[in-house]
Amino acid sequence: MSDAERPTEGGTGDDFEPIQVFPEAEEMDLRPGADNCYKCSTCDTNCPVAEVDDEFPGPKFQGPEQWRLKRQDDHDVDDSVMKCSNCMRCDSACPSDVPLSQMHNTARGEYVDERMDTFSREYVRNRILANYRRLAPLGSMFPRTTNFVMGLSATQWLGEKLLGITSEREFPSFATETFREWWDKRGGAAASRKRAQEARERRGGDATSKLRAEDPRARRDQDSSASRGGTSDRTEPKRIAYFHGCYSNYNTPEVAKSLVRVYEHFGYEIVVPDQHCSGTPMFANGMIDDARRSAETNVRELAAALEDGADIVASCSSCSMSLRQEYPELFDLAGIEDVAANTWDAVEYLRVHEDLEAELEGSTVEDDLSFAYHAPCHARNQGLDGQTIELLSRIDGVEAHDVGDSCSGISGTYGWKAENYDTSMKIGAEMFEHMADANADTGLTECPTCSMQMEHGTGYEITHTLEVLDAALVGTETEGRTQ
Ligand code: SF4
Ligand code: SF4
Repeated sequence: MSDAERPTEGGTGDDFEPIQVFPEAEEMDLRPGADNCYKCSTCDTNCPVAEVDDEFPGPKFQGPEQWRLKRQDDHDVDDSVMKCSNCMRCDSACPSDVPLSQMHNTARGEYVDERMDTFSREYVRNRILANYRRLAPLGSMFPRTTNFVMGLSATQWLGEKLLGITSEREFPSFATETFREWWDKRGGAAASRKRAQEARERRGGDATSKLRAEDPRARRDQDSSASRGGTSDRTEPKRIAYFHGCYSNYNTPEVAKSLVRVYEHFGYEIVVPDQHCSGTPMFANGMIDDARRSAETNVRELAAALEDGADIVASCSSCSMSLRQEYPELFDLAGIEDVAANTWDAVEYLRVHEDLEAELEGSTVEDDLSFAYHAPCHARNQGLDGQTIELLSRIDGVEAHDVGDSCSGISGTYGWKAENYDTSMKIGAEMFEHMADANADTGLTECPTCSMQMEHGTGYEITHTLEVLDAALVGTETEGRTQ
């Protein structure tokens, strides 16, 4: 058996003294993971950046090989780690469970801390992109003015010249009312409790959510429910804590409103905890301290909601990815494992806890619609890539075409950087072509930045799966729809 075919023996971590790769961070010793790599290169062949950029050395180098080099010679982290888009496709592709994205995130954090000049244009630009959550409240104070100014070609030109933010893309518009403003005006959690109770009475259902045991996530939920003092037969009221993320709050509140209406339709009461950015753009830019500060708030607030009997759902696939996987991989905070184990994608949660398929069977939307659907990489990473097409096939008058498993290419902030724009569009070319071939009315996805790339590359208008479920299940006539 060649070296390339043979898994390294003894890679369990039990048979050596751990080495601190990063002296300050004992918990970041990833040597067992690095030793599990048997150099099959599957990760490299699944990397969309390596596929179109010959200069990018690929995930095997970024992960296990850099780790080995660092261990032997105390090498500096290579600057190519900043060219990784954090799409995490290598993570899902690796047959040996090497924690590639954890290695990349950790290496990027070290690169930024130790090798980047904090006065450089690149650092300032990356910090701005990574901290959208800090800037968005300013932009949304006067949304019409902000949208006008950000839409000027002079602003886009300046953004590229001064900061290196590509002028090829249009900045996303701010909504005139944020989701949280709408939520508060509507009466917040108290109003939601009342609506949920009315829906349960209408449906003749009880107040507890059901687990469908055949789903692997259901079993995990049963275990974690038991671990926090519950039992495997849930007795909590139907209650969810909604992690809306930044984009659904400031830019596309209609997605968040759809989530509220759909969950209340099933009799769930919703709480909307205080929250910061999930950290996704911070991980991708090596701003690990910023991400940790956000995680401290999010974990504290979400853990408290769990204690109150709520499960956590997110409408953005990158936010759920971050809470589920990146948080426990990168941070050691009280309650973080519990938060990770009880976070769900919003559609996935309903699939597992409700008979969503049966509910959608024979439902209709106002006008017949066809969708070109792109499953985001971060949804694929959570095993969610088939659910949208399957669910939408139950709705009369709706056709959804899967446009394939390629990456959209934008990967959050990656495609906003002037130096990555061409690569981002080359990666997206396959998806653009399949979307054009689908000849649909509208594009569909669950990731806000994938939706920007889909619109940019094809001219399609893009919507979110929750909006389609809202149209099919709640429709346009009920009181719930108008508020
Ligand atoms: S896919 Fe996994 S085992 Fe194969 S080269 Fe990449 S990291 Fe190593
Ligand atoms: S996260 Fe994506 S871009 Fe980065 S190395 Fe892995 S596959 Fe390539």
